[in-house]
Amino acid sequence: MRRISLNAQILAGVLAGTVLGLGLSMLEKDSAVAITGLYMADLIGTLFIDLLKMVLIPLVFTSIAVGVANLRMHRQMHKVWKATLGFFILSGSLAIFLGLSAANLVRPGEGLQIAMFQDAMQGFQAGQMPLSEFFAQLLHSLFQNPITALAQGNIVAVVVFALLLGIAMVIGGERYTNILILLQEFLELMLMLVGWIMRLAPLGIMALLLKLAATQDTALLATLIEFIAVVVGTTLLHGMVVLPLILYLFTGMTPVKFWRGAREALITAFATSSSSATLPVTLRCAELHLHVKRDIAGFVLPLGATLNMDGTALYEAVAALFIANLAGIELNLMQQMIVFFIAMLASMGAPGIPSAGLVTMVMVLQAVGLPAEAIAILLPVDRLLDTFRTMVNVEGDMVGSLVVQKWVRSERHDTGGSSALP
Ligand code: ASP
Repeated sequence: MRRISLNAQILAGVLAGTVLGLGLSMLEKDSAVAITGLYMADLIGTLFIDLLKMVLIPLVFTSIAVGVANLRMHRQMHKVWKATLGFFILSGSLAIFLGLSAANLVRPGEGLQIAMFQDAMQGFQAGQMPLSEFFAQLLHSLFQNPITALAQGNIVAVVVFALLLGIAMVIGGERYTNILILLQEFLELMLMLVGWIMRLAPLGIMALLLKLAATQDTALLATLIEFIAVVVGTTLLHGMVVLPLILYLFTGMTPVKFWRGAREALITAFATSSSSATLPVTLRCAELHLHVKRDIAGFVLPLGATLNMDGTALYEAVAALFIANLAGIELNLMQQMIVFFIAMLASMGAPGIPSAGLVTMVMVLQAVGLPAEAIAILLPVDRLLDTFRTMVNVEGDMVGSLVVQKWVRSERHDTGGSSALP
């Protein structure tokens, strides 16, 4: 008998997890079934994330170093850089624009009684993080002893060191072929491990979704329904219309073909709420199913997992307007432009871990004089919204790798030297 495909197994895991989780939420909280069910789900879900994290750091390190070093083959390094950053900024800007437009139209939070959130806001101290301090911290975290960074799992510092090492290998050329081959083989081994871990994905994803569905507070969700609808609606619009459109315009790839190839990564992102934890799966999907060359995928995807977060940027912009509405403050055009830029920066600064966007949102709120404590209002629903935004964050990274690949490749064939962009 033919084995059921991994994709089908994962989809079955999603369904089973959601249904079982909703079922569990209807049971008494302290019944033996509920306690054991949640305990098992937590155990298995955490194990799956731990396994992904186990390969994450060696994978990021080797994939970026090899990715950059291999760029020397076609001397396209500066084009890849420019295309990658250009894409990140373009897709992020569109996402924020979409979010701000929807929030201006629907005006979520207007008319809601702020008093009902007073309890939540009382006693909650948001970490004060002025912009200047944020920059200083960011800069400081970029450069670290690579051994410390690897050991502590500081992904940003690992990315920076791997980038520098890759550039050194490009400049050093042939002399460092041995190291390059070594790293390349190590990368292949890591990808083999990812393949093994993915066999556990259906179970891991089922467990993560079971826990999420079982622990959602539905009463609170109902109160914030308008805000949730705007965030989820625009995030999905960006993920299902804007990004596929960009992909189609630049590469000619149809959305169906893309989603078929990207499915594993998108579902893993949804279930883990972490672009970083999903990165091993993202790399696998991009290379194996979407046929992105290793040098491009290895460069664009790890960078994108921390820098390119369309879903997060959109969320931060909508949330800032929502909180302004709750507080009865009207943000003018200038202030909304500030929200636009700071949301972009804050999403770039957010690490790819659950609820990171909520933390860096403090910057956006403070930039326009809104109380940082207000993020307490969003805490109860953040976990739910994180699923959608992380999925779109990861989708943006994969679309980016395809667009960059196409751009660089067509420029290479273009003897006239003009841009291949439409
Ligand atoms: N969880 C998101 C991610 O990993 C970051 C965020 O909280 O917005 O992509």
